[in-house]
Amino acid sequence: MKNNRKQILVLGGGFGGLEFVKNFDSSLADVTLVDKQNHHLFQPLLYQVATASLAAPDIAEPLRTQFSKNKNVRVLMDEVTGIDLNREWVTTPHQSLSYDYLVIAMGGRTNYFGNDDWAKHASGLKTLSDAHRIRNEVLGAFEMAENLAEDSEERRRLMTSVVVGGGPTGVEMAGTLSELAHRYFKRDFRQIDPKQARVILVDAADRILPMYSESLSRKAVKQLEELGVEVLTGQQVESIEARKVVLKNQEIEAENIIWTAGVSANSITDNLDVDKAKGGRLKVLQDCSLPEYGNAFAIGDIAALEDADGQQVPGVAPAAMQMAKHVAKIIEEEIRRGSHGDREKERKAFVYKDKGQMATIGRSRAVASVGGREFSGFPAWFAWLAIHLVMLVGMRNRFTVFTKWIYAYVRNKPGARIIWRTVPSKVKAKREKQGFVL
Ligand SMILES: Cc1cc2nc3c(=O)[nH]c(=O)nc-3n(C[C@H](O)[C@H](O)[C@H](O)COP(=O)(O)OP(=O)(O)OC[C@H]3O[C@@H](n4cnc5c(N)ncnc54)[C@H](O)[C@@H]3O)c2cc1C
Repeated sequence: MKNNRKQILVLGGGFGGLEFVKNFDSSLADVTLVDKQNHHLFQPLLYQVATASLAAPDIAEPLRTQFSKNKNVRVLMDEVTGIDLNREWVTTPHQSLSYDYLVIAMGGRTNYFGNDDWAKHASGLKTLSDAHRIRNEVLGAFEMAENLAEDSEERRRLMTSVVVGGGPTGVEMAGTLSELAHRYFKRDFRQIDPKQARVILVDAADRILPMYSESLSRKAVKQLEELGVEVLTGQQVESIEARKVVLKNQEIEAENIIWTAGVSANSITDNLDVDKAKGGRLKVLQDCSLPEYGNAFAIGDIAALEDADGQQVPGVAPAAMQMAKHVAKIIEEEIRRGSHGDREKERKAFVYKDKGQMATIGRSRAVASVGGREFSGFPAWFAWLAIHLVMLVGMRNRFTVFTKWIYAYVRNKPGARIIWRTVPSKVKAKREKQGFVL
């Protein structure tokens, strides 16, 4: 039975979508949250799943359980395939959903800058499947080096990883991969010496972590090098082939190639006929609504916004959450008032509060810039741990992650060194080539 309450449709249960629904006063309207996954994913800790420190459920929380006590919130697991802003409905393979207000919070996707064929050879890191693929392949490569490599050249390649992209995710991946090989694997293999493993971080810019000061960026390089990472800056990737990264002056043979160099808006934006910014992000006005459509908002990584202070809002979790709260307030006020506001006069402009940024590099190593203060090493690492623990969704996850971090720190052992498939595909191919029947 159709009721007269306003219908709020929220697309995506990531940082923006989840925060919107948590903050919106659902006594005012019916809220439907649609996500193609049944869970919220805490992407900042994805690299720890990829590098075998944490398990997938530690960083994911079922969306449904978040709202089990709220009768006015409906959670739908479904994939949004179309948005019709003129007719005010959204389509999925199974249904059409109409709305009075729309909140688009579907995030971004890995951007290979027009070289989509590189995705076959270089994993992105955006989903739990990506993280599992990386973990399987990295762990599988060391198993192959120990057991099946035919010569030293092959063994060297199997123990080489290249991470493309010197932003926070690339730095975190490279540091942790190197630590995994050099610190944790060293006792566990007999034929190979994991200390010979190479992790190479490549970036086209002349320095890594360009959003930090030059001094912090230099400190990050120093900490990475202490962990054994080779940092190559000013090196544009020309192509990526199977097990090979081609740079201008050299080619690197590497079993594992991880791409963290770019993010663009969710592919749903490809078919939306509205103003877009770089990477397909939806340009929004300062109230976070789409220029032609006052009842449709875009928040988080899918949106491009210069805020009321003239700063470009970055694609980070706190920005998505702040935008979500801002939009929740606007919609609540309009429903209470009973009219769509005059956007210029009645809706407040969003202002991003930058609380600082941090990137971890490995055990006791990190860089941070908070409230105009910069610090690095153990204090930055400790602050990073505390903040990520607080931000993680779900008490169970906080408790589990905290316990696993303490255990890993004290015992020097990451807890999730499991290859999911019984026989990784590359091992299978190699063994079949060698005449084994699997
Ligand atoms: C590896 C990695 C590390 C990061 N580290 C940090 C960090 O340390 N600190 C920080 O602040 N930020 C970090 N970020 C960025 C941060 O995660 C994003 O800025 C944030 O997730 C953006 O929130 P969002 O709500 O816009 O999108 P997301 O959180 O990505 O949520 C999008 C949601 O939409 C859903 N969705 C997508 N397509 C569809 C569809 N067709 N139908 C239905 N549902 C769909 C997805 O399943 C997802 O739940 C990191 C990102 C990555 C990938």
